[in-house]
Amino acid sequence: MDGDRFRSLGHDLVDRIADFLDGLPERPVTPGEGPAAVRAQLGATRPLPENGAEPEAILDEAARWLFEHSLHNGHPRFLGYITSSAAPIGMLADLLAASVNANGGAWVLSPMASEIEAQTVRWIAELLRYPTDAGGLLVSGGNMANMVGFWAARAAAAGDAIRSQGAAHAGGDLSVLASAETHTWVHKAADLGGLGTDAVRWVETDAELRMRPDALAAALDAEARAGRRPMMVVASGGSVSTGAVDPLREIAAICRERGVWFHVDGAYGGFAAVLDDAPEDLHHLALADSVAVDPHKWLYTPLEAGCALVRDAARMRAAFAYHPPYYHFGQEALNYVDIGPQNSRGFRALKVWMGLRQAGRAGYEQMISDDCRLARRLFHEADAHPELEAHTLGLSIATFRYVPEALRAGVGEPEVEAVLNDLNRALQSRLEQAGEVFLSNAVVDGRYLLRGCIVNFRTDVDDVCAIPHIVARVGRAAYAESVSSGAG
Ligand SMILES: *Cc1c(COP(=O)(O)O)cnc(C)c1O
Repeated sequence: MDGDRFRSLGHDLVDRIADFLDGLPERPVTPGEGPAAVRAQLGATRPLPENGAEPEAILDEAARWLFEHSLHNGHPRFLGYITSSAAPIGMLADLLAASVNANGGAWVLSPMASEIEAQTVRWIAELLRYPTDAGGLLVSGGNMANMVGFWAARAAAAGDAIRSQGAAHAGGDLSVLASAETHTWVHKAADLGGLGTDAVRWVETDAELRMRPDALAAALDAEARAGRRPMMVVASGGSVSTGAVDPLREIAAICRERGVWFHVDGAYGGFAAVLDDAPEDLHHLALADSVAVDPHKWLYTPLEAGCALVRDAARMRAAFAYHPPYYHFGQEALNYVDIGPQNSRGFRALKVWMGLRQAGRAGYEQMISDDCRLARRLFHEADAHPELEAHTLGLSIATFRYVPEALRAGVGEPEVEAVLNDLNRALQSRLEQAGEVFLSNAVVDGRYLLRGCIVNFRTDVDDVCAIPHIVARVGRAAYAESVSSGAG
């Protein structure tokens, strides 16, 4: 492909993407198709092409298929899971990054890219009020960022022995203490780190789903009595279900007193530390030995971009560095291969860096604050709606459920609760099918709740105010069907 052809194809594609972005609000959030329909469109079972094809046709088809058969998390009424609307500058950054194709494993292979990554990490630390001389790198997302913290903690607890001899010989007595609300990455980390998931001790939470410091202290004492070595305490800087922020300051003091590594999972909520009116504990991230954040959530970076920060940078090298004879990378510069699990690495930092430059600290403060304000509004609108019951509000997550008038008097009775759980589950599926709005769910105290999580700079107050009415309308239909089919 020569330069002229590339230019013409590229211009055409960029035009189509711009139209797609402008037209997002008019599209359904999802086409509501099942796997069979999507596979049929793709021609999923076609064999590998023997011969090549013209790039015009390939680009045209791929763009059409993706625009028409995708879930659009950039849609203003997408409030599901914790998946953000992607910033357009990040899309252009990915194109540029792929063009230069820097290999961010080693400085010599990516001089400017490596330095941009280092600056990005420093800026992220600044945004979080974390020490700017911390070690850190970009990874694929929150799972990997948390795992980097996990591996650094594991090496800090068991040294080189666990790296050379494995957890069975050098780490059999290690355990991890985590809030019961911790995201499931901790299962994968305990499993892949050789400890096994049974080595995770789940620490009780309070009525607001925050880790209880007294329960943590008791659990650490119990570990000591049992002759086990807690290698880390995992706290939430914004839990995935309800946005709960653990009492980080108290937890940090308990960890410091006992010499245990303190890790904060801020994949969702960490960036809310930029707000002056953030939950107070988010302003104490600097007390953590390691923090995971997710630029592809609240920095609106296109997938994928996670970031791991480790206060003592040397701890990352101690967990990851090896020096095989076929590497000639030099020691004076930072080689990312030495401080993370990857070898060859793409240039994820560029899209994060461009976002930080375009919005600045003030821009992110505004956007994150808007998201939290919209979630509060959603909570209050749900609370005010006669057919909805508002449940939790934390950061930019609001939960609520549909309660038909006929069942109102029975709320709290086990049989009625079971009916409400089924009904809200069915309601969620209907909403997903219809494509007007996309919510996900949370289960709190055994109650199946609808959950709106706003990490979306395209959502505005009209979107949020429309949601309770849509939910009630679809809820009535779901309830009518369940009654007529005898399930109600
Ligand atoms: C999203 C999230 C994760 C996982 O992050 P990915 O980017 O999906 O890998 C972990 N912890 C919390 C609190 C999260 O919100």
